[in-house]
Amino acid sequence: MEDTTSTTKTKGPAAHVALLATPGMGHLIPLAELAKRLAARHGATATLFTFASTASPTQRAFLASLPPAVDARALPPVDLSDLPPGTPNEALMSEECARSVPALAAALAELRGRAAAPLVAFVTDLFGVDAFVAARAAGVGRRWLFFPGSLHALTLFLHLPELAASIPGEFRDLDEPLRLPGCVPIPGPDVISPLQDRLSPAYGQMVRLAGLFLDADAILVNSFEAVEPEVAMVLQQPKLGRPSVHPIGPLILPADSGAGDTAPRAACLEWLDRQPAKSVIFVSFGSGGALPAEQMRELALGLELSGQRFLWVVRSPSDEGSLSGNYYDAESKKDPFPYLPEGFVERTRSVGLVVPSWAPQTEVLAHGSTGGFLTHCGWNSTLESLVHGVPMVAWPLYAEQRLNAVMLAQGVGAAVRLPEAKDKEAIAAAVREVMVGEGKGAAVWAKVAELRKAAAEGIRGGGAATTALDKMVENWAGEK
Ligand code: UDP
Repeated sequence: MEDTTSTTKTKGPAAHVALLATPGMGHLIPLAELAKRLAARHGATATLFTFASTASPTQRAFLASLPPAVDARALPPVDLSDLPPGTPNEALMSEECARSVPALAAALAELRGRAAAPLVAFVTDLFGVDAFVAARAAGVGRRWLFFPGSLHALTLFLHLPELAASIPGEFRDLDEPLRLPGCVPIPGPDVISPLQDRLSPAYGQMVRLAGLFLDADAILVNSFEAVEPEVAMVLQQPKLGRPSVHPIGPLILPADSGAGDTAPRAACLEWLDRQPAKSVIFVSFGSGGALPAEQMRELALGLELSGQRFLWVVRSPSDEGSLSGNYYDAESKKDPFPYLPEGFVERTRSVGLVVPSWAPQTEVLAHGSTGGFLTHCGWNSTLESLVHGVPMVAWPLYAEQRLNAVMLAQGVGAAVRLPEAKDKEAIAAAVREVMVGEGKGAAVWAKVAELRKAAAEGIRGGGAATTALDKMVENWAGEK
């Protein structure tokens, strides 16, 4: 897709921006994209802080590919050994951030004194909002929350303190779907996973973090109006006591931003080169998803039954059966192949390719042979699919993925959602809907084509997303 935003718009005194990405490629990738855009379009330089806990090979390779204007820096490790085993990821991330505040405050103060350009803003994702204190202590003028999810998910967070106080039981037991301003009604079980157990440490952390959102000077959201129009309208109305909300998406990793022209092309892309146009369904559960063994088996059999070509990024089921078992490192825990049904790889060799752990997802989605995406509905994956006009089969696992699936399937109509019972017949039927255009498939294709156009228009020079970010940075010039 043409990206006219990469040309520098403003000359004049340069600015420096500090960004903090909490663990997970789904936080790091879009924040890095924001840093790259601020550099390319607004002449800024950036320091991108990450936590020591996430130094996986996947993350290291990604950070190494950043342009010179974006300096990646790991914060010193903090001791989390007192947290009990099984502490949910959300609680781990916010705790690591809270304990990193002193180190971050010192690093920001040093950057203020040392950076060649004035440090004008501090930006962090939703699990890093404890760090606003550090930015304030270091005297950074702007504190922005970068929300890497949908406007629907943001609305849920903004209403969370009042919902937590007014709903006595568990969200999953609600008789009626949750009705939030501008949002598609959200059935209780589809409310984000860390809120499904009031006794979990994640629940309290989420409510606390939601309260800290109000400390931001502004909230930048990686979404765009066409995909969730009503809630976009609601949130862009100024509201007393709530930071202003600015949809600046879709910010996604461009398909041509791999490790450079000299790096060998991934084997799965070469395999895609040999497949017919739009014939392959890409199957992937994000940077952290792992299926329970039984579902992995049904998926394999369902893909086979569908008769469609497929490219599947597979990880071994996690030992504890946790759906997010790979969140911190993305690499499969064990060799995943022995978990596939016997003879599956051989039987499907002429139509399918199974790759362990990781694939260059944006390049796969941009490839002409890809015609569908069976996805966990992580928000980055969703945006990447829409930007490349790929219709989705929704198989949400954890975090806010079920909420995204509701919005995509019941709301805008860009996906077919799998039923709760994910047997091979249901999987094959949904794959065929999206790949062959059966059932709702044709309508989903038409909607996705429309959204692809809207996404491209938004990020052009003069488009809604570009203009929103331009406005955010227009006062930078001349700042000390
Ligand atoms: N990703 C990738 N290759 C993979 C799996 C994931 O490049 O094999 C990238 C994907 O393109 C997206 C990010 O990792 O940019 C995952 O973010 P998302 O929000 O979709 O899901 P999460 O990993 O946070 O669950």
